Amino acid sequence: MEKNADKAAIMMRLCAACGKCSKSCPAHINISEALKIYGEYLSGNPQTLEKLNNMKSSGKPVDCIECGACSSHCPDGLNVKELMWELAMIQSSGRLMKFSCGGWRESVG
Ligand code: SF4
Ligand code: SF4
Repeated sequence: MEKNADKAAIMMRLCAACGKCSKSCPAHINISEALKIYGEYLSGNPQTLEKLNNMKSSGKPVDCIECGACSSHCPDGLNVKELMWELAMIQSSGRLMKFSCGGWRESVG
């Protein structure tokens, strides 16, 4: 299995930030921005995930409907759908806050 840092380096090298994926995204996610944040996270900066909540696009990784249009339109052959799914899982888990009583709820923002 590739190390996170290696994965981040490959992803950031391959993504030319051309925006073709975002133009095809029905969830209106700025995918190149999200991938940049993911790359920073994989490089060892977990605090960078806070940037997901401040993305300019109306859609965030958690809004991904896994349609695969982004992967189909990426000229560099990135499996964007899978990367967005991974990031959505990380973003979702980050939104869960544990109550002192042991229950879970989704945090605001
Ligand atoms: S798979 Fe997700 S990120 Fe990709 S185009 Fe579809 S909704 Fe957008
Ligand atoms: S289409 Fe591919 S290269 Fe272009 S911004 Fe999206 S992920 Fe990056």
